[in-house]
Amino acid sequence: MLLTVKDISKTYSNGKQALKDVSFSVHKGEFVSVIGPSGAGKSTMLRCINQLVVPDKGEVRFNGIDLMKNNKKQLRKNRCKIGMIFQHYNLVSRLTTIENVLHGRLGYKSSLSGSLGQYTEDEKKQAFRLLKRVGLDKFAYTRCDELSGGQKQRVGIARALMQEPELILCDEPIASLDPKSSKVVMDYLKKITTEMNITCLVNLHQVEVAINYSDRIIGVTDGRIVFDNLPEHLDSEQINEIYLSKELLV
Ligand code: ADP
Repeated sequence: MLLTVKDISKTYSNGKQALKDVSFSVHKGEFVSVIGPSGAGKSTMLRCINQLVVPDKGEVRFNGIDLMKNNKKQLRKNRCKIGMIFQHYNLVSRLTTIENVLHGRLGYKSSLSGSLGQYTEDEKKQAFRLLKRVGLDKFAYTRCDELSGGQKQRVGIARALMQEPELILCDEPIASLDPKSSKVVMDYLKKITTEMNITCLVNLHQVEVAINYSDRIIGVTDGRIVFDNLPEHLDSEQINEIYLSKELLV
């Protein structure tokens, strides 16, 4: 197991309980989708893994180490091995594509060399290789705000890969994209993570996409996991259970 989450719960300061005793595990190299209605707790669940959101209780074991018990320095080191891809890309729009990819190395640097933009020749070569891998080497010196949404998300993938991650967390990576760009982004994500044996956990709105790309699907509703199985076991009854939570209907 690369990741084991055990009994995590999270209540936000406004009193909203977003997660209720959530447990699941992910094998090394697995591509797992998390589906569920808006507000179900998918994003909170993903963010609890890299401690962007700190659970109130439970364990988050990454390579056997409980990240909940990490001090700041240990957490910084472990987070380097966990890449993240965001719905709104989180790129620095006034910087070039290659500079944004290089930002994937920031976790490895002192804040001074990072803020001065000091990267080694090897890092620059690697950034180019990764841009080529997502089909964007021609755009290395293009400002990110000139790219399309799909291209921006491919930069997001390259930036995550630049971390040399063991795990990539993707929070609604295609929610802002048209169907054609969505397919391109998902194809790259699946192909590259499979080839590089990188584990991928992806929050998705679209059940069809989850079925097409995943080794396993986790269904979340109202802060709880109600399905955790192979895509072929996801039938219409289970989809109804995930998307028609009783509490949401009340
Ligand atoms: P999903 O990703 O499935 O849409 P979220 O994890 O974003 O679900 O949200 C789960 C619940 O927690 C929702 O009711 C949402 O409004 C609430 N929530 C999310 N983030 C916060 C926050 N920072 N403060 C308060 N409530 C939040």
